[in-house]
Amino acid sequence: MRIETQCVQAGYQPENGQPRILPIYQSTTYKYDSAEHLGKLFDLSVPGHMYTRISNPTVEMVENKIAALEGGVGAMLTSSGQAANLLAVLNIASAGDNIVCASAIYGGTINLFGFTLKRLGIEARFFTPEATDEEISALFDERTRLVFGETVANPALIVCDIERLARIAHAHSVPLVIDNTFPTPVLCRPIEFGCDIVVHSTTKYMDGHASVVGGCIVDSGNFDWEKACKYPELTEPDESYHGVVYTKSFGRAAYINKARAQLMRDFGCTPQPIAAFILNLGLESLAVRMERHCENAQAVAEYLEKHSKVSWVNFPGLASSPQHALAQKYLPNGVCGVISFGVKGGREAAMKFMDSLRLAQIVVHVADARTSVLHPASTTHRQLTDEQLVDAGISADLVRLSVGIENIEDILEDLEQAFKKI
Ligand SMILES: *Cc1c(COP(=O)(O)O)cnc(C)c1O
Repeated sequence: MRIETQCVQAGYQPENGQPRILPIYQSTTYKYDSAEHLGKLFDLSVPGHMYTRISNPTVEMVENKIAALEGGVGAMLTSSGQAANLLAVLNIASAGDNIVCASAIYGGTINLFGFTLKRLGIEARFFTPEATDEEISALFDERTRLVFGETVANPALIVCDIERLARIAHAHSVPLVIDNTFPTPVLCRPIEFGCDIVVHSTTKYMDGHASVVGGCIVDSGNFDWEKACKYPELTEPDESYHGVVYTKSFGRAAYINKARAQLMRDFGCTPQPIAAFILNLGLESLAVRMERHCENAQAVAEYLEKHSKVSWVNFPGLASSPQHALAQKYLPNGVCGVISFGVKGGREAAMKFMDSLRLAQIVVHVADARTSVLHPASTTHRQLTDEQLVDAGISADLVRLSVGIENIEDILEDLEQAFKKI
């Protein structure tokens, strides 16, 4: 199936007489014919559900859809994007280890990696978008466990050179983890460029209606944990699971099965079945929504670029963007619906402009059907120091515009009337 069809059809295949639409199994628990069968489930020797903290049929069918969309061997939904990033790292990093990480990433991820993981003894070593291969390689040592980047950084809109990072990561025998939230698999499938683990905040375009917070981890199945010889947590017996060896029991799907059997069991950041159901409704229209988001954002970016009250526009879809060549390589069908730009007159003019908008509304959220705006420096990224703001590609006058799927003329008219007020 092609991706537009997978968005609608993958994950749930009803059998004769079963509900046509994904059923919501709102049940914490499951029934067994014998104690022996349940014992086998606990041994992980037969597939099935034990307890909804660990897995649930509704959740599983949505996981299977997202795994299909990304081209992975398995996926695990989490209660938020933050939880997905946390578990993706903790699955293979412990106190004393470090990770090598792009600095142009979501502010919440910088806080999580740079501060909270540090308190757990895991050090994040950041590199800027300008860093050379040699500079990035110099950050590695024998305790480096993974490389992390974001396909299109929120909100800096810096496009990650996935193939280059995969090459550097693999030269050091570690996997590449990519947060693919902004493009979604409709616009970019990082696994096709050598990425090993994909993470998502499904809260954004995947849900697409600003209804449910959620996250997802997808395992490509391509990283050879045994060959890397530095991931005993996957290749040696897990004491907390009476000696299971994940690479032996699950082969290519070792990483994602360990994440579930061990970390989801212990941390419990589980999505509710109803949340998975709502996410699935969003996924069904994802391909058509992304097409319209991209088309509208391209038109808005071109309008802003010509506007006398705009000092600069950052949108990788513009031919003038320094990100354009990377965007054409990794995102040939569109980047996403998010644009950032500077209003002439700086912070104050930007605030006045935002307050004057009528259709576009001020929200913290980004990447849903409704056009919305945000001033990151004073809101989502206000915990960052000035230096971190610069590294994340954010200036004080930056307005983040999330272009929705409304009629483009209405969006442009709204922007124009707001510019007239400043
Ligand atoms: C929003 C976001 C997150 C965090 O996801 P939540 O669902 O809000 O927890 C992580 N990465 C990116 C790129 C995001 O945009």
